[in-house]
This record gives sequence, structure tokens and C-alpha cells, in this order.
Amino acid sequence: MGRKLLGGSVVGASVKNYTRRWLCTANVGLQRGFSAAAPPELPDFDYKPKPYSGPFADEVLEKRKRYLGPSLFHYYQKPLNIVEGKMQYLFDENGKRYLDAFAGIVTVSCGHCHPDILNAINEQSKLLQHATTIYLHHAIGDFAEGLASKMPGNLKVVYFVNSGTEANELAMLMARLYSGSLGMIALRNAYHGGSSNTIGLTALNTWKYPIPQGEIHHVMNPNPYRGAFGSDAKRYAEEVQDHIDHGTSGKVAGFIAETIQGVGGAVELAPGYLKLVYDIVRKAGGVCIADEVQTGFGRTGSHYWGFETQGVVPDIVTMAKGIGNGLPLGAVVTTPEIASVLSQKIQFNTFGGNPVCSAGGLAVLNVIDKEKRQTHCADVGSHMIDRLRILQQKHEIIGDVRGRGLMVGVELVTDRKEKTPAKAETAVLFESLRELGILVGKGGLHGNVFRIKPPMCFSKDDADFLVDALDYSISKL
Ligand code: PMP
Repeated sequence: MGRKLLGGSVVGASVKNYTRRWLCTANVGLQRGFSAAAPPELPDFDYKPKPYSGPFADEVLEKRKRYLGPSLFHYYQKPLNIVEGKMQYLFDENGKRYLDAFAGIVTVSCGHCHPDILNAINEQSKLLQHATTIYLHHAIGDFAEGLASKMPGNLKVVYFVNSGTEANELAMLMARLYSGSLGMIALRNAYHGGSSNTIGLTALNTWKYPIPQGEIHHVMNPNPYRGAFGSDAKRYAEEVQDHIDHGTSGKVAGFIAETIQGVGGAVELAPGYLKLVYDIVRKAGGVCIADEVQTGFGRTGSHYWGFETQGVVPDIVTMAKGIGNGLPLGAVVTTPEIASVLSQKIQFNTFGGNPVCSAGGLAVLNVIDKEKRQTHCADVGSHMIDRLRILQQKHEIIGDVRGRGLMVGVELVTDRKEKTPAKAETAVLFESLRELGILVGKGGLHGNVFRIKPPMCFSKDDADFLVDALDYSISKL
């Protein structure tokens, strides 16, 4: 497929502004040596990876195949053996550098091997790695205090777990105990985990096994790009009410939603949706759960938590991934009233809040503040989104550019009107970006959405390089 330009008639005033700015950026690109004919080059980075003497990709893959379950999958036709990371860059077995635009699936929030976080982990490890909460240790309380200080309203009680799945399991348990009902409402296209219970909440057939799914009701996801009602939050909310009226006893345990659907392809919810639905769910006796596993900790730029972009305060918030910059860590934060339902029996998690994870997690909170990562995400994210929207005018294959801050999706389609997923083309571009030195994620039910969710230290130069590389790769299709 060759380069396709859209006709001038669809290019509105704001797009002209983008174009002007893009031309300026393109000039900068030319000064850097980028032209349509030459592939763009990675921004400079003053770091030399250590010499690598470990096994190479073929051997690593062979052992993985022999000893690990067949459910493991890898990116790229020729899998990548990543052996070192520094901030927003990764290095393979040959010392080749890559721009990491996926952050270990939206997890390395502050940057690979961030010195402050490493230091906190190392210092704690030298003293005490683990003893469990049957003894006292200050780290768990310090971290919980730090986390609670970031929450609005009465969300002040913290439970620590080891993953996002575990966090959602616990949130669902609390919702059911607190409400006295079983029925959970979740959104289609959601991902909330892969355990026997959370697999029921997840609503993408690619991740679901045919087991009993529990008492779960999936309502329409209010997807402004593909959804039946576009951005009309009110109509999607009416559908939730209708579902409660017809598909349940009229009472529900709770509602759970990501504030931008991550695995589903960086899908934002129609503006105002959560406010309307939270009211409906609470009237039906349920609690409202925000899954902030991907959207939390300043990534959206405008706010610290994704739910704040919709002007709501949930009853329970679940988090993982970015909370630990790579440590196995998750948390559930709720109100004292809801938390009290778990005082009837023992609720225990062996590793939850262990000193090393707590020290590392607290360091993550401090780094995000110290380095002003939320504002940085807003700046770099809006620059990148602007540039991607200009690219959208240039290449018809880009059907949608969406997201906030450094949580961005680029959906590729072969036909803009029909929105036909450009599955094969996405796969080709995915490989060529890797060749150029960029690792992005793929998402959406059809795997036709690029997910750009880098470590939050990702710079404007990195964003320019990524957009130039996408431009270059699409032009070669
Ligand atoms: N919720 C969301 C929004 C997620 O993206 C994920 C993981 N992709 C999970 C929950 C589950 O987290 P984990 O893989 O840590 O169990």
C-alpha cells in the first residue's frame, strides 16, 4: 500500500495548526538527519550497556519451550532477548538499544533500574526481606500512608497484594460481602485478570477459558470510536440501567471498569459515563470499583488517577503494575466502612506489603513527585498525540488516535468508513518498528491497536522519534 493523502476538504482549522507545527517538527527532523528516504534514528543516550555473556535468544527460547507452559507467548517473529534496561531504553543480547514504548506492559512507571528505587530496594533487602505482617515492620505502614495521601475522599484503608488480578479478586470479594449481592457489572472489552474469578470480569474472548464465569454481567463499553452510541454517555448509562432492570434481581454487588481500557486497546470511556453509571449502580445497592492498574500514578497527565478524569470518587480502587516499577506489587484501597466487612474472618496475604516491596513502592511515589512525572506525562503526551493526529491526516490507515498523557492508542484500519481492523498491516508495522529500534504494545480484540505506554521519563525527542518511525514504516507498506 502506498502513501495516501486525505483530501483538503477534511482538513479543518485545527488540523492546519497541527500541520504547521508538524512542518516545524519535520524541519527539526531534517536537521537531525531524518528524511523520507532515510530511516529515523534513536535519540542520543549517554549509557553503555554492560558486556553480556549469558545465553542467546535461541537457547533461552528453547528452554522456555521445554520447561514452561504453552500459554506463554512472545512478541515478534524473531523473539527479542532483552538483557538490560536503563530508564526508557532496553538493550538486547548484542547491545542494540531500543526505545521502550510499552514499559513491560505499562509497569515500569519511573524508568528501568531507576537509581532511587533500586537504592530503596537494595537497602531494605540488606536488612530484612520478609517476615510477614504477624510481626511489626514500619515499611508497610509508611507505604500505606503514602498511598492513602494520594487518594480522594474517605479512601484511606489499604490492602497490599502481589498483582492486579489479586487486587481485583479482593475488590470483588469486598463488593459481594458488603452489598450482600453476587452480581458484578463489567464492561465489554475489559481486562481485569486471568484467575478463575477475574476471568469472568475480563471481556475479551482471546483471554477467556470456558469455565463458569460467575455472576457477571457485561454491559456495552462506551467506546467513542466504535461504540453504538459514539460519545453519548447518557445512552450507554441507560443501557446499564436497562440491564440491571432486566438481567438482575434489581440488586447488584458492584460495577468495575478501567478508566481507559488497556488490553482492549487504550479505549477511553465516553466523557461523563462513570458519573452516570456510578449513580445507577449505587442505587442498585452496588459499590463502584475503579481498576487503576494501568491508568494510575500520573500516567494520564491531567490527573493522578484515571477516575479523576471522569470526576468520580470510587468506593474501591485497585492498582498494580506501575505501583512497583517492576516489583510484584498490587493494592486495593477502600473506605473504612467497606473494609470492615473483612474483619469477620482472617484475610491474609503472605507477601502483601513485605518490606522490600513496600520500600520500593514508597520510592516510586516519591520519584513521581520529585521528578514531576504527572506534568511531564501531560506535556510529552499532548505533544505526541498532536503529532500522531497530523500523521493520521497523512496516512489513511490510521483510523483513530486516542488517549491521555502517556497512555495512547493508535488504531489501524483498512477502511476508515467500515473501520475494518488492519490486522495484517499492524503486524507488519509492529515488526518494522522493532527493526527501527522501537518497542510498542499491541492491543484490542483484533490486535490492530498500537499501545504506546512508555516509562514516564519518555521525552519529547523519544516521542518525535516514535512518530517519525511510524511515518517512515507506514510509507514503506
Ligand atoms: N487490570 C488491568 C487493567 C490490567 O491491565 C491487568 C493486566 N494486564 C490486570 C488487571 C491484571 O494484572 P496482573 O497481570 O498483574 O494480574
